[in-house]
Amino acid sequence: MSDVEDFRARARAWLAEQATTYGKEARRGLSVEDDLALGRRYMAARHDAGFAGINWAVEIGGQGLTNLHKVAFEGEEMAWGMPVVYFGISLGMPVPILIHYGQDRDWVKERVRKALRGEEIWCQLFSEPSGGSDLAALRTKAEQDGNGWKLNGQKVWTSWAQYCDYGVIVARNDPNVAKHKGLTYFWVDMKAPGVEVRPIKLAGGDSHVNEVFFDDVKMTDEQRMGAVGGGFGVALHTLMIERYIATDSAGFGPHLDLFIDLAREIEVNEKPALEDGRIRSAIARNYAMRSGLEAITARAMKMMEAGMQPGPEGSLQKLVAVRSRQRLSELAIDLQGNAGFASDPHAFVKESWTASWLNAPTGRIAGGSDEVLLNTIAEKILGLPQDHRPDKGVPFNQIPA
Ligand SMILES: Cc1cc2nc3c(=O)[nH]c(=O)nc-3n(C[C@H](O)[C@H](O)[C@H](O)COP(=O)(O)OP(=O)(O)OC[C@H]3O[C@@H](n4cnc5c(N)ncnc54)[C@H](O)[C@@H]3O)c2cc1C
Repeated sequence: MSDVEDFRARARAWLAEQATTYGKEARRGLSVEDDLALGRRYMAARHDAGFAGINWAVEIGGQGLTNLHKVAFEGEEMAWGMPVVYFGISLGMPVPILIHYGQDRDWVKERVRKALRGEEIWCQLFSEPSGGSDLAALRTKAEQDGNGWKLNGQKVWTSWAQYCDYGVIVARNDPNVAKHKGLTYFWVDMKAPGVEVRPIKLAGGDSHVNEVFFDDVKMTDEQRMGAVGGGFGVALHTLMIERYIATDSAGFGPHLDLFIDLAREIEVNEKPALEDGRIRSAIARNYAMRSGLEAITARAMKMMEAGMQPGPEGSLQKLVAVRSRQRLSELAIDLQGNAGFASDPHAFVKESWTASWLNAPTGRIAGGSDEVLLNTIAEKILGLPQDHRPDKGVPFNQIPA
């Protein structure tokens, strides 16, 4: 057995032991606050068991293993429905970037330990009303103020900000230069005076995204991550870390097997829906799509094993998988007739077709919208000419808004 497979088997055994305390059944019907509290206990147990910070250096408190070990663990963990969603962004991007750029190393080490144990949570404050897909269009200002900085502006769609202790933020320090050049990256204390978090209610009833307002928020120069004016590069570095995450060819919705079970139970024209040619063809299309995505994942794993970086073909995963999940969820709701509209706020997106369908549109926007992923595929995979960029090189304060 390879080292990774051996690790996967150990992870599977540990997760199976934890499932009754922290898994899907233990979480059913809990309020967000209680689920988060359970999640914090799970994270502490995961840290104690040696499954936290798997691919992070031992000196910083990680396990010193490879990206392959991390992806193997995440793949196993996903199957149990553990309460990890609150910590995904925190440990996925802000904390790894803090490890890279944080100035006070002892402080960083303490933050890493607390974040791995779920005691502290970090958010990612990138998107704004005027800067989403085009991150460099953002308008939040960081102005020099004595030896430190003063932050003013607004972010939006910040996941879990209402539960966060810290965040990483990109802000404009110089509007007189081209939009990519006048940005600087910081960490910010979410409990500092002048920070206001307002949750946004989504269609499914949950409020995990927020507006965040900054009104004269003071930051020291020690909070700066990277050079003044180098914020766009640090932001790109942050987004690149996402390459090493477990993907799910079901688009983080229900597995195809659940659709097949449903089609067996429900009758169309007095016969099981599974015998209907249109349903069979939807199943076949979904199966073919999943097999294709799984082949791309398998290839990325092989590249990582060989010490190479997975390529831009990863952009296909979310684009194709979430769109297919949305279509399959819609078909499952249609098959159920009126019952398909019954919406349970505690339902799991990976089990309920209604919850999956309600949540799918956010999946087509978060982490890069469909159109932006299509642009990436066009430019990076197919080698087509670049998207039209009329404001390239123009000083930010001269771009019409
Ligand atoms: C559930 C959820 C969680 C999120 N969590 C976070 C978070 O924690 N932190 C954070 O910073 N952000 C977060 N976001 C924000 C997310 O990153 C942005 O919504 C996303 O980048 C799109 O930006 P936008 O909403 O400003 O849309 P816009 O960029 O304004 O896009 C509007 C429309 O125009 C299209 N479009 C834009 N540019 C192009 C182009 N060049 N070519 C063709 N079409 C284009 C888009 O596809 C879209 O359909 C989250 C979003 C969601 C939905």
